[in-house]
Order: sequence, then structure tokens, then C-alpha cells
Amino acid sequence: MTDRQALYEGKAKIIYTSSAEDELILHFKDDASAFDGEKVEQLARKGEVNNAFNAFVMEYLQSEGVPTHFIRRLDARESLVRRLDMIPVECVLRNRAAGSLTKRLGIEEGRVLEPPILEFFLKNDALHDPMINTSHIRTFGWASAEEVEAMRRWTVRVNTLLKALFAKADLILVDFKLEFGRYQGELYLGDEFSPDGCRLWDAHSLEKMDKDRFRRNLGGVVEAYLEVAQRLGVPL
Ligand code: C5P
Repeated sequence: MTDRQALYEGKAKIIYTSSAEDELILHFKDDASAFDGEKVEQLARKGEVNNAFNAFVMEYLQSEGVPTHFIRRLDARESLVRRLDMIPVECVLRNRAAGSLTKRLGIEEGRVLEPPILEFFLKNDALHDPMINTSHIRTFGWASAEEVEAMRRWTVRVNTLLKALFAKADLILVDFKLEFGRYQGELYLGDEFSPDGCRLWDAHSLEKMDKDRFRRNLGGVVEAYLEVAQRLGVPL
């Protein structure tokens, strides 16, 4: 494809236009970044592993009735998706304490959160994605009351589905982040789902199998992603 244009280049992916106006191409890069881009590295094969992982998860969610932007995988590193009008809010669901929650509230890592915690963050790099609540979302018009309720409902549903899916692969779904957007008046799950945007621990050893291996210099980042993919039966 020669006529495509990059609409956005992030740390881990590039979004290109496609030949159809209402479709986009997600290109998964090998770059990993953390701490607002302070730490950046190239990790061989991460792009293709995340592309395959994301396709597997999105197709599973779709088969279970979750509306997602995913259309199909195009090749090793790229997938075709519907073009959404993105809502600038990150929906984070937590089944166990980790990451920013442990720092913010002084909760010990690993504590089981029952019921699970749902948090919203504003997507804004310059402001370092601050935490917000539904009141901010409504007053500043980032989403309607119905959309907030739908984002909440779909995030909880995705948790139910993926917690069970990962449990079968002996993995604990610790937390994850979702982003949603609008397409023809309906809410769809957008962005990607990969070990870059969730925390997965081995169910027995509690070993970290996600991007925390990169954030914390634990090594074996792509090896862990591959192990998770293999356990789930993701075709690679
Ligand atoms: O950093 P924090 O603990 O708030 O992250 C919660 C979850 O959301 C983690 O799985 C993390 O990988 C994901 N996340 C993300 N992108 C962000 C912020 C968080 O994928 N910008």
C-alpha cells in the first residue's frame, strides 16, 4: 500500500489511513516505552507478538458479543480496524492492587480487590494522564452519561470474559486498560489489548508476565509475552 498516511505515531504503534475512509491500519512496532517515554527500547518481535495477541483477544471478545473496532489481521505486524471517534478516557479495571494504585493509596501489591476497582484517566500526555471521575467526564463533555455507563458495563464484561480466559492458561489478570470510541452512533472497544496494556501474573509463582518486566528491568520481556501467547493458544 503506497497511498497511506500516518495519522498518529505513538511509542508502540503507528495508525495509518487505509483505502476505505472508515477503516484504519494499526501497525505494531517493536518499541517499548515507559515512564512517559523516559525509557524506550527496541524489543525484537514485540510488534508481531502484540499484533497476534491483540487479534486473538479482540476476536474472542467479539465472539462473546463485545463490540470492538477489530476487523482482521492483515499481516505479521498490521491489523485493519474500524475508524472510531475516540473518547479521551482510559478505563482501568483492577482485580489486584499493583502499579499506580499501590503508590497512590499505599496498598500492598497483590492484594485482591473485591469488588474489582474501576478507574478513569484522562488521555493527555502533557498532563501525564491524570485520574478523573465520572463528574469530570460529564462536565467537560468527554462522554455522555449513557456512554460512561456503557464504558463501565463493557469494561466489567471484558473483565469477566478475560479473567476466565487467562485463568485457563494459569494466568491472573491483575489489571488492564481499555479505550472506547464511537462508530455510527454506537460505542465500540478500540485501541489494543496486549501485555503492554495489562498485568498478567503466573497463577502459581505470581511471576510478572507483562510490561512490568520492561518497566522494572526484569528482562525476558518478549519471552514472557511469547509464553503467555503460547499458553493461550495464540497462533504465531
Ligand atoms: O499504571 P497503572 O497501575 O495505573 O496501570 C494500570 C493498568 O493500565 C496496567 O495494566 C497498565 O499497563 C495499563 N495502562 C496502560 N496505558 C496507560 C496507563 C495504564 O496500558 N497509559
